[in-house]
Amino acid sequence: MRILVVEDEKKVASFIKKGLEEDYYSVDVAMDGKEGTRLALSEEYDLIILDIMLPFKDGISILKDIRAEKISTPVLMLTARDNVADKVLGLDSGADDYLAKPFAFDELLARVRALLRRNSIEKNTVLFAGELQLDTQTHKAFRNGDEIQLTVKEYSILEFLLRNKNRVISRTVLTEHVYDYHFDSDTNVIDVYINKLRNKIDKGFDNPILQTVRGVGYIIKDN
Ligand code: CA
Repeated sequence: MRILVVEDEKKVASFIKKGLEEDYYSVDVAMDGKEGTRLALSEEYDLIILDIMLPFKDGISILKDIRAEKISTPVLMLTARDNVADKVLGLDSGADDYLAKPFAFDELLARVRALLRRNSIEKNTVLFAGELQLDTQTHKAFRNGDEIQLTVKEYSILEFLLRNKNRVISRTVLTEHVYDYHFDSDTNVIDVYINKLRNKIDKGFDNPILQTVRGVGYIIKDN
């Protein structure tokens, strides 16, 4: 899952990015309001974490612009503690939740997970396809009860495909949701990861769960 963090305080931004990446998310950071708006409107995100006080353009204006473009990506606002007016204005402008600074990282993570679940067709924390199971809280995968060891990227790909089960996902869309902005999407790296993932989840089984749709992309089907 890919997250945009719009935050001008370097320390806070890198703390959030590092923590989220450790929890298997791909993260882009924008350090000011203009860059935040540009990324939010041009890239595909599963969640946006938005500070209110920002250089060039404040978080509320960014939020209004995002919603005016009919982008329904969940937005978590970061507000100053006890600033009720900011919280109310944020929620009224289309934010899905807010968190007062300073916050405990665990609370940020819990809110991120809750917002992603709310937006997902699959509300459960354990995702399924046939005999395959993926626990999105422990990041463990199982097929027929046997644990499969996944790398961070393999996990991200599998999670995204499972959340979009029975839908063909193009390589472009997959790349957009699994990598951050600095990833060179012209490469065939995604295919390399898919092959590794397929070896881990399908090898030795007659019914492949991860399938290639030639010329289009990939699909995970319930079979
Ligand atoms: Ca700020």
